[in-house]
Amino acid sequence: MKKIIITGGAGFIGSAVIRQFIAETAATVINVDKLTYAGNLQSLASVADNPRYRFEQVDICDAAEIARLFREHQPDVVMHLAAESHVDRSISGPAAFIQTNIVGTYTLLAAAREYWSNLPDERKNAFRFHHISTDEVYGSLGDSGYFTEDTAYQPNSPYSASKASSDHLVRAWHHTYGFPVVTTNCSNNYGPYHFPEKLIPLIILNAVNGKPLPIYGKGDNIRDWLYVDDHARALRLVLEKGQLGETYNIGGWNEKTNLEVVHAVCAILDELHPQGAPHASLITYVQDRPGHDRRYAIDASKIARELGWKPLETFETGLRKTVEWYLGNTAWVNGVVSGEYQNWIQQNYGDR
Ligand code: NAD
Repeated sequence: MKKIIITGGAGFIGSAVIRQFIAETAATVINVDKLTYAGNLQSLASVADNPRYRFEQVDICDAAEIARLFREHQPDVVMHLAAESHVDRSISGPAAFIQTNIVGTYTLLAAAREYWSNLPDERKNAFRFHHISTDEVYGSLGDSGYFTEDTAYQPNSPYSASKASSDHLVRAWHHTYGFPVVTTNCSNNYGPYHFPEKLIPLIILNAVNGKPLPIYGKGDNIRDWLYVDDHARALRLVLEKGQLGETYNIGGWNEKTNLEVVHAVCAILDELHPQGAPHASLITYVQDRPGHDRRYAIDASKIARELGWKPLETFETGLRKTVEWYLGNTAWVNGVVSGEYQNWIQQNYGDR
């Protein structure tokens, strides 16, 4: 059965992918993660003792350690999710984004290609390097239209520029060396185990604690939301059936303004956690993020047409599951709301 190296497996999406692989397949997973502030092994407690799961605390920029991992584990495929992922942090401190997202992806590609080129033919032909990326590489949309796989790259933030660079490196490794890659670009994910610097968990936790619910600008920026387990399923499908060298956009056809998202969270909380209702009274407008992209919307018809993928959750069902999860998992929440996180929130957003 397949042996998979998953980078960034202690993060939000990577941990969802690992939990799914262990629960639903016979694959063996090697989780390669540096454990930055965003990496949390508590998200993997349910698989930690499984004999098909291994954890390696390694920085993807460390070429010698990455080479060792390929030598020791002899993987059949690689799924590359490790990244610095928070746009606001990329504005205040872009260096880590350049290092991990660009240099780290290069380091991984170089080691993976060296390993792949020495595999026997059958394993070589079956090998895949799956690069996981974002729709933010396409820039910002006006009121109409969608991002397709052919949309020109126009990244606007240090985060999206670093992800765009990594996408180009992966593409070049395929074009130049015939290295077997697939790339996916996904819209905004939400769901359980999401670090509470991101909009939806931040709003849930602030609302429960009676703190202000910060909204950038007028709250009219539009994002296209996808439940994280639906993304994980799409990634597994692309890894299995995606055409070499191809890109697949993944999205939930769920465009919402930030204000709509916050009101939807508040409405569910009013019902499930009536103390403090109406929670929407906590909404506070704060100064907009510099260069804030106005609208993202994914055309996910290629992955539906060619691979038969469609999301299982609607925004309503997925959001309800998410709110229920945060209300029921205070131990996880308390574990991540660490001193470092509090300091960062304090410095960047003031007291909330
Ligand atoms: P995350 O920030 O929750 O997790 C990232 C993980 O990578 C963490 O566990 C962190 O410890 C690890 N990491 C960071 N730097 C590392 C390094 N140098 N070496 C090894 N590990 C390192 O991110 P996420 O939201 O789970 O996103 C995963 C991937 O999916 C990223 O590549 C991101 O660009 C992409 N993506 C995310 C979204 C989203 O909405 N969250 C949408 C589309 C694409």
